[in-house]
Amino acid sequence: MSLASGVGSGSDEGVTLADVVERLKAIEDIVRPLQPIPDALNALDDTVRDQRQQQVIDTFQLKISEDQLMSRCTKCNGRFIQKPLTVDEAIEASKGFQIIPSCLFNRNLEFWKCTDCNQLYWEGTQYHNAVQKFLSVCNISD
Ligand SMILES: [Zn+2]
Repeated sequence: MSLASGVGSGSDEGVTLADVVERLKAIEDIVRPLQPIPDALNALDDTVRDQRQQQVIDTFQLKISEDQLMSRCTKCNGRFIQKPLTVDEAIEASKGFQIIPSCLFNRNLEFWKCTDCNQLYWEGTQYHNAVQKFLSVCNISD
């Protein structure tokens, strides 16, 4: 028996229209958060953000070079240590402060520590995309 015939016939299985509506709402509540944000919305946000960044760069006549990208702590704008930490040094430095995902332990990553707030950074999956984005927004050719 199809759902439509069950609802239309008044249901000999005791399923009422209200039951169906309740089930659909429950399914909607589960599915809605899983929906991806529409691309058009993302594109709009990116465009607006890029324009704002460009306005700031133009207004303050900022000269941004590639070696300045990712050179400051995003939490406190502090500078990083001169020499990167190994994974073992980073694990030690992170104790009681920051969790380094164990999936990073077997990779040959360098870790950078903020000299002001001690936040640790590494080149994660988003790093190169972020650099490319900045190069584009700041009109720096790589
Ligand atoms: Zn910092």
